[in-house]
Amino acid sequence: MPSPPDDCLFCSIVREGTYVRKEKGFVAIEDINPKADVHLLIIPERHVDSFREIGEFPAREAKRMLEFVADTAREAGLIDYRVQVNVGRSAGQTIFHLHWHVLGSHTHHADLSAHAETAVEVL
Ligand code: 5GP
Ligand code: ZN
Repeated sequence: MPSPPDDCLFCSIVREGTYVRKEKGFVAIEDINPKADVHLLIIPERHVDSFREIGEFPAREAKRMLEFVADTAREAGLIDYRVQVNVGRSAGQTIFHLHWHVLGSHTHHADLSAHAETAVEVL
């Protein structure tokens, strides 16, 4: 497997950054430029450039990563939320280390959703 680029921002955040949540192999951080009341990024320790390379994750690790996304959203107090992965530059990807956006609002949840506007800007 090719080694990650030396200058990968998310590799250094995983190594030495501050997280809101961490589990073996994954961290969650707050997006520096939030697009919603709550905007978290889930970053796997394993470097792959994008979602296209999801097959490089062992099946159990891929499942744990998805559970970590859901658990992080739940712990952040979100009920309804959006999970987004931008794949490739023209789809909005700017950091080429796979990451999952979790976007939501504490004031919008299942009971209110019938009346609420969409709480999260579409990226
Ligand atoms: P992408 O555009 O690749 O899907 O998402 C990259 C995200 O990383 C963007 O939403 C951007 O605001 C965020 N970001 C870029 N640099 C930093 C940083 O140094 N710290 C944090 N916490 N977020 C960052
Ligand atoms: Zn990386």
